Amino acid sequence: MTNRTNIFFHTSPLTRAQIDKLPLIIIPVTGKHLSVNEQQLPGYSDVLQTRLRRRSQHNLNNPIFTTELPNGTGTVICVFRLKLDTVFDSLTQARNLLKTLAHYPSDNLNVNLHTLPTETAHRCIDSLYSALLATNHRLPHYKTDGIASKNALTITFYGQLKPSQVHHRLCEARGNNLARSLTALPANELTPARYRRRIVQLAKNQGWDVKTYPFKELKRLGAGAFCAVAQGDPSGQAAIIKLSYAPRGAKHHLALVGKGVCFDTGGINLKGSSSMHGMHEDMEGSAVALGTLLALSTAKAPVRVECWLALTENHIGPLAYKQNDVVTALNGTTIEIVHTDAEGRMILADALTLAARAKPELIIDYATLTGSCIQALGTAYSGAFSNQEQLLAEATQAGRDSGERVWPFPNDPDYDESLDSEVADIKQCTLGNEADHILAARFLQKFLPKQTPWLHIDLAAGKHKGGLAHIPSDITGFGVRFSLQFLKNRGWIKR
Ligand SMILES: [Zn+2]
Repeated sequence: MTNRTNIFFHTSPLTRAQIDKLPLIIIPVTGKHLSVNEQQLPGYSDVLQTRLRRRSQHNLNNPIFTTELPNGTGTVICVFRLKLDTVFDSLTQARNLLKTLAHYPSDNLNVNLHTLPTETAHRCIDSLYSALLATNHRLPHYKTDGIASKNALTITFYGQLKPSQVHHRLCEARGNNLARSLTALPANELTPARYRRRIVQLAKNQGWDVKTYPFKELKRLGAGAFCAVAQGDPSGQAAIIKLSYAPRGAKHHLALVGKGVCFDTGGINLKGSSSMHGMHEDMEGSAVALGTLLALSTAKAPVRVECWLALTENHIGPLAYKQNDVVTALNGTTIEIVHTDAEGRMILADALTLAARAKPELIIDYATLTGSCIQALGTAYSGAFSNQEQLLAEATQAGRDSGERVWPFPNDPDYDESLDSEVADIKQCTLGNEADHILAARFLQKFLPKQTPWLHIDLAAGKHKGGLAHIPSDITGFGVRFSLQFLKNRGWIKR
């Protein structure tokens, strides 16, 4: 559930009379030491300076100082030193600040930016607004006594400002909030069947075209890689869904592909309980693809987008695929099955083949694909892979610019030796775990025409304990903000 978050801008300076009516004012500062002047806090700057000087020794290095003004309202003043080294730092600081301020009983945040340089002020608006939109979204929960929490619903910025990003951030937050909410749903709630119904409903609301490829049709088409996994799904509702957003006058053509494993038991090579815990989140890639499409279409981006969602469970059962099975993918490549828990690359293989048929200018896929990507990066970054080096450079830059950071991995053909099979064209994976994230990326590109520009995001940062950047929940929905930035940097969508 999303609380409506209002944003207002006041260009005239804050007056003492206004201050006396406001419950909470934030004053970001840039200097080495916390201090405020008369322009930032008219009528009360002396009081505040005295308190700042007197604050206890151990508090001197704390970048946040909060105090109550001696006025009738008891206006809470929060002075904080901006962290501006990276966008990631600014977003993280904004999330932490909102967490601190949630203790104060106010649904109204006021931020005085009057003395800040324009660029710094815009950065501050961007991070605080982004963090507020993420914080004001409640993830699904099933606690019968509810979850009590308090967040500001209105944020007002004071200063001579012309922020242009605000609408984009709102669209982006809708996409991210959707991705996080879907990912948080338990697997008995978000079965492939129910996920499909939700997607169809959303498409109807948004005016997107929907084409569903149910299991039987995929079998008939020869999508043997997807069907190898999907045949073990006892619901029989596994499917690939194609959503199309085709605005008039679109100048570019993008395909998004997402891994939607609604629950991953590991299959016949069953996971142990600690690795299986949380596997309802193995559909996060599809949720991020869907969220990115929602953000683009809400922003009325002039880009034609096809979004391919590969939905299934990876289950045990009499029909489940097995080690040493050989299956034929949609593009004719034969695959020797090595480990049934490497199901993500199987379902993506055929989805990528389908996505490439319309010859998009770029394909981006998202997947919680490999444990080895998490081993390599931890969960603060996601992994980026591509068949074109230039795209990796762009991805790294978009990661820095957006605060959703990605790190590039190699894509050299000699890695393929590990995937040589004696009986089929390619092995699905190896039994060892070495460089599995790179092998997975090498595997995936066998199902795309060589000339198709392709970016693969292995969502190592899809879950980060305590939240990441501006996102306050463990589930991060990583990828929506990154993707919009990537397209902005390319000039495909406006800033
Ligand atoms: Zn798996």
